[in-house]
Amino acid sequence: MSRHVDPERRAARFIALEEHESTHDRLVWGMRRNRDEEVARVPEWEKLRELASQIKEHTLTHLDRYLEQFEGNATRRGMHVHWARDAEEHNSVVYQILRAHQVRSLIKSKSMLQEECGMTPYLKKRGIEVTESDLGERIQQLSDEPPSHIVVPAIHKLRSDVATLFAREIDSDPSNSDPHYLAEAMRGNARPRFLAAQAAMTGANFAVAETGGFVVCTNEGNADIGASVPPLHIASIGIEKLIPRARDLGVFVRMLSRSALGSAITQYTSHFHGPRQGGELHIVLVDNTRSDRLGSPDFWHGLKCIRCGACMNTCPVYRRAGGLSYGGTYSGPIGVILEPGFDIERFRELPFHSSLCGSCTEVCPVKIDISDQIYKWRRVVAEKGLVKLTKKVGMSALGTTLAHPSLFHSAESLAESALEHAPRFLLYNPLNAWGRHRELPAAPARTFRQWYRENRGNHGSA
Ligand code: SF4
Repeated sequence: MSRHVDPERRAARFIALEEHESTHDRLVWGMRRNRDEEVARVPEWEKLRELASQIKEHTLTHLDRYLEQFEGNATRRGMHVHWARDAEEHNSVVYQILRAHQVRSLIKSKSMLQEECGMTPYLKKRGIEVTESDLGERIQQLSDEPPSHIVVPAIHKLRSDVATLFAREIDSDPSNSDPHYLAEAMRGNARPRFLAAQAAMTGANFAVAETGGFVVCTNEGNADIGASVPPLHIASIGIEKLIPRARDLGVFVRMLSRSALGSAITQYTSHFHGPRQGGELHIVLVDNTRSDRLGSPDFWHGLKCIRCGACMNTCPVYRRAGGLSYGGTYSGPIGVILEPGFDIERFRELPFHSSLCGSCTEVCPVKIDISDQIYKWRRVVAEKGLVKLTKKVGMSALGTTLAHPSLFHSAESLAESALEHAPRFLLYNPLNAWGRHRELPAAPARTFRQWYRENRGNHGSA
């Protein structure tokens, strides 16, 4: 049985350095603000959201048909299509292809699916060197950490963290944390790896059933150079990435970067429709729990996700706790609704790592009911008896108090006097995780009920 992830403890490690928390919050919230500005320039935004949601729902409810159509068209275009039921099968298919081509080193662009499958450690164990080509992913690879954000994987790091890391790993100047210097240092280090790589791996943002082609969006052009230099290209594609027609792409491409970074378009939106001259292009279509989710009335909408990260950027918990606190491949609200589907015991705390404020649902470009799903996962955790004892006791006491007005009124009076007179250590002690990082605001002079009675006297009894 897996040991469960403790997001509180992991978040405490991240915010132990106060600068991490404030910088992370500022940068991530900045992306949310940029998103709002860009969205305001598109008057038909809400119509686009509705359309995107409908296209995804239609595709998912006819997925068998579209997958076969995609396979047929991709094969006709000279690509090799493989199917993988789970992470192990995905990794094994990739390894067999690499072994058949005697590949010892490959360059890969960012792919959350390959991360989800644990592909890099799998290949490393079998003697294949994998180099991440996306700058943020490379930083995370060198730090031996998973991405902390699905779009900007190293957003939780300060410039000085990166300068220290690069000095240790690629011999750059540890005292120079200028972003241009650091990017140039990595460019110099990465270029020979691009040129020497025997294979390239990418993910895909969208796969088009009608054409058999797929689309990869990056801001660094790293997928393009990767796929253009070595003769072998392998793309891992989750089966939920399908869309029916080429013309549907316009809806999603307009929304992706606006939602992610608040920029009108991704710098490189590359379309792959076949192997390069003299080369081979393999596609691995991966299920890995997606079919199970599709069969779940409560959670199938999660498959509409286009991995834009907007829900993370707006989430007050993610912004302060950092992505690594979620302990899985996916973090933020999308992580909260995806990870328990992989392993409910391991991720049983995640549904409680949320304020349920609903902001994620408001910004999601494909209208996923994220906060409703978070609540539903809490129910699943409770039904499976996985809620921790302290939370269970606290919630049950609160339930009884709220269900009995007289009890609630007594508790209110007790709390009033306790806040004034109780010794400080009762609230701020090592057993109370809440009090470790916060100060309770000063209690108001009167309760809401007292105010209501005085100001809405006629309805006071209500
Ligand atoms: S759930 Fe919605 S907002 Fe979050 S990453 Fe997916 S598409 Fe973007």
